[in-house]
Amino acid sequence: MRGLYVHVPFCARKCSYCDFYSLPARLDLLEAYVQAVVHESHRYGGLSFQTLYLGGGTPSLLGPGHLRELVGGIGKSVDLSELIESTIEVNPESATGALLEAAREAGINRVSIGVQSLSDYELQGVGRIHTAAQAVEAIILASRLGFKSVSADLIIGLPGQTWSALHRTLGTLVGAGIEHVSLYCLSLEKGTPLEKSPPLDLPSDDTQAQLFEQARSFLLGHGFIHYEISNFALKGYECLHNLNYWRGGEYVGLGPAAASHLYGRRFRNRADLDAYIDRPGYLTEDVEELDVRDKASEEAMLRLRLLVEGLDAGELAAKFGRDNIEPLADRLERMAHDGLLVFDGLRYRLAPSRVLTSNPIFAEVL
Ligand code: SF4
Repeated sequence: MRGLYVHVPFCARKCSYCDFYSLPARLDLLEAYVQAVVHESHRYGGLSFQTLYLGGGTPSLLGPGHLRELVGGIGKSVDLSELIESTIEVNPESATGALLEAAREAGINRVSIGVQSLSDYELQGVGRIHTAAQAVEAIILASRLGFKSVSADLIIGLPGQTWSALHRTLGTLVGAGIEHVSLYCLSLEKGTPLEKSPPLDLPSDDTQAQLFEQARSFLLGHGFIHYEISNFALKGYECLHNLNYWRGGEYVGLGPAAASHLYGRRFRNRADLDAYIDRPGYLTEDVEELDVRDKASEEAMLRLRLLVEGLDAGELAAKFGRDNIEPLADRLERMAHDGLLVFDGLRYRLAPSRVLTSNPIFAEVL
């Protein structure tokens, strides 16, 4: 399985918590950006992809015309005939009927909506520019247009967030027939406005963990599977593009700041839109060629994010060689002994109590 990711680095306005590479007020560069991405895709001519993911930034800002041009142009260079899943991330205020119809026509079958919350107070508290009503409208529109799967991103730990408001948000989403939910815990990223002046009603870490646990129980009670640390899906609606990433599969990233993992190499396009438009795909950095032991550790770490599937110890040994994974196998065994992981004789999984505090465990795996 190989995935194609396109980073769309435009946003209408910067949200106060965001440290992704996205630029407000550069929409004049949309046409040049689209042409640059299509140009970069020629470098991967002949490769076939099973998943496509337009992420951002705010891909819905492309509008119907640029979206058609982008997907159509890429499809002329690389082989998209085997696509089984094709996702576009949209924000509620720009997920218009015309945009979503153009997405359907371009073969996109999955929509991921940046809902974040269905409380206007919570949305305004972090500088989101849409309302709860616009988010519900976008969900209804996407469902009506017959996308195979509609997903919603939610943030846990928004200023002033309470369980009763989060419960209402989840109830509305489930009632609207959503098939996939991503729950991200709000974090104060260095240099963001939220980090520089955090609001007084920001929930504590303990409250955030409690809200996550309550949301998790709610979703499990409504038939969702907690298949990855931040992701829940009805059976059969897991995000295949991200599953491929967590399983250590290959992917190509187009656009500024997009990362790739291809032929055993990892690299990333420079996060610089102007430079990208001048020389699409030629300014790569963070180039890494991992040796076999590092590769095994990295794949183990990624697979441990998969809470149901877990890490198959035998498969890992068969793929990388028993000798190469010996020190890693010892570390995994020790962590299972210490209760950080659970081993059922075949697979390692994160201990349920460690799901929200998994970073130190991943650091140890690496
Ligand atoms: S819409 Fe998304 S990518 Fe854009 S600023 Fe907000 S959080 Fe960041």
